[in-house]
Amino acid sequence: METIRLPALDAPVAGEFDVAVAGGGAAGLAAAISAARLGSHVALIELEGLLGGNAGPGGVSTVCGMHWVEPGGKMRRIVGGVAEEIVQSLKNSGSAAGPFPFKGSSVIPFNPWAFARECDEMAMAEKNLRLFLHARVIGVIAGVGKPAGLVIHQVGGLRAIKSSVIVDATGDAEVARSAGAELRRGEHIMYPSMMFSMANADSAEVLWRNPGLFAKLLDEHWDDPEYRLPRREGALIPTMRPREAQVAATRITVGGRDDPPADAAEPDQLTLAEIEGRRQVDEVARFVREIVPGFKESYVSHVAPRIGVRETLTILGEFTLTENDIINAGRFPDAVAANSWPIEDHIAGGKTEWIECPPGKFYQVPYRCLIPQKVDGLLAAGRCFSATHKALASARTIAICMATGQAAGTAAHIAAREKIAPRKVSVKNLQQILTDNGAIIERE
Ligand SMILES: Cc1cc2nc3c(=O)[nH]c(=O)nc-3n(C[C@H](O)[C@H](O)[C@H](O)COP(=O)(O)OP(=O)(O)OC[C@H]3O[C@@H](n4cnc5c(N)ncnc54)[C@H](O)[C@@H]3O)c2cc1C
Repeated sequence: METIRLPALDAPVAGEFDVAVAGGGAAGLAAAISAARLGSHVALIELEGLLGGNAGPGGVSTVCGMHWVEPGGKMRRIVGGVAEEIVQSLKNSGSAAGPFPFKGSSVIPFNPWAFARECDEMAMAEKNLRLFLHARVIGVIAGVGKPAGLVIHQVGGLRAIKSSVIVDATGDAEVARSAGAELRRGEHIMYPSMMFSMANADSAEVLWRNPGLFAKLLDEHWDDPEYRLPRREGALIPTMRPREAQVAATRITVGGRDDPPADAAEPDQLTLAEIEGRRQVDEVARFVREIVPGFKESYVSHVAPRIGVRETLTILGEFTLTENDIINAGRFPDAVAANSWPIEDHIAGGKTEWIECPPGKFYQVPYRCLIPQKVDGLLAAGRCFSATHKALASARTIAICMATGQAAGTAAHIAAREKIAPRKVSVKNLQQILTDNGAIIERE
């Protein structure tokens, strides 16, 4: 491809920090808050105008994977800390419900707008945290043997963020890519989707008493030429507001429904995917109005401002979580988080493949999954930590993204304070600080 050399530019320094967190989704928020509470001076940098990423602003409205189910059937929490805090706060304001058991794990439906507002409040409550919104990380500042900070683009131009340690919580390993870290792009990726909500529905029957009905109707109409439905399995999720549901039923390719998933790491595909996502919203909404009982008078009340991306690139870490670690309920001496959500792989034919953890068990995520090979001064959290495609189909859910965010933020704080590389952080010390701050690594 032809390239053009740009002139060298000066970037005014916006601040000097102990920890810079790129990406203000669920993982980045947890990382930034955790490091700030421990006393680090933290920059949280988010390209959109609000926090939450897929969770909340992106229309995802269920926290999956906060619990595991004991052999006797009792639900036990497996994710605590910052994730538990946000869930409790949402429940206290009537903006979340549950947990409800689901495939050996749990689901907690919540209101997406309330989640985004909760992120605002949590970030602004931290005096050590400085928030940069509408700020896109476009590169790293080269330091001695490691990045020395980030270059961001905001209104008015470039700015520099100096920082001893960086957490990449961009979901797409954007910082790791700029820093020259090795990345993994699976043979397959999961489909992106466009989330939206429908209001003015007589929702009680479908949402609470018969939650499986919507998926059954989608499946029955898969071959119906009247609707070219993109997905066979889907869900109508209560938004906690009367007569309103979140609709999870789109699945985006840049061709027909039998084509491969749109790749959000490819700029031209991402552009087309946004258009296709909105087209699918109109089509699925028509189906919902015409076919789903109680939705005849409903209308589309909100569409996420951008497609929801399940998978692009991850770092290649010192350890890569695999499908085997999930189906064998993997245990690790350097575990920093745990999860019970099944492998939920969005596969061809509109289907979802589910592979559960062994009954009554859960798996752990080792600290090494957050540490990129070769590049120092950097950690990854959330859906860009080191995992294979199949493992990520489980480990991308909100609860575990927040748990790895808390782990990365805590480790980044220790590394900055002790002036050491994150890979040199004492795992024992890290685990102790995490559990002291409500994180769960082993059963409660
Ligand atoms: C359609 C869909 C449905 C899902 N359903 C569920 C569900 O029901 N339950 C569940 O638990 N999970 C669900 N998930 C998974 C879950 O929502 C996400 O994997 C999780 O929220 C990811 O969190 P994250 O913080 O790692 O990444 P993201 O949410 O992707 O956040 C990354 C953030 O980084 C920002 N960013 C990216 N690049 C830059 C940059 N260069 N500079 C600055 N900022 C940047 C982005 O704007 C974003 O805010 C779903 C995902 C999708 C897409």
